[in-house]
This record gives sequence, structure tokens and C-alpha cells, in this order.
Amino acid sequence: MKKAFIDPNICDRSPFCPAKRVCPVGAISQEVKGFFGAGTPKVDPSKCIGCGKCLQVCPHRAIKMV
Ligand code: SF4
Repeated sequence: MKKAFIDPNICDRSPFCPAKRVCPVGAISQEVKGFFGAGTPKVDPSKCIGCGKCLQVCPHRAIKMV
């Protein structure tokens, strides 16, 4: 099964990442850095069910199924 992968070179690291919010299984986590800073969201492949919802909401198309 393909799993979501977030390309760190494309992701803008918004702390309001919509992909993180839409994931039905909470597979996307993001490190918080200071008040409005955030790391690149990461997909936990052991949690991801490959539903593809995060791909549809990423405004930068930074997410691929691999
Ligand atoms: S493909 Fe689905 S389960 Fe996997 S990270 Fe994206 S929204 Fe979550």
C-alpha cells in the first residue's frame, strides 16, 4: 500500500497545515518551534492508511503517495 510522503523542499511549514488536520488517523505530526514557527509535518507510515485526503488539501502539493 502506498503511504503519504511530505516533500520538505516543497512544504512551506505552515503551523496551520490543513493536511495535518484532515488526516483521519492522526498520522501527520508537526514539531512546534516557538510562537508561529513549525517544522515540516511528518507522516508516520505505521499509522497512515493511504486514504489520500492529505494530498487533496495541501495547498502546495507537497504530498505524494510513495
Ligand atoms: S494518506 Fe490519509 S491516512 Fe495517510 S497521512 Fe494522508 S490523510 Fe493521513
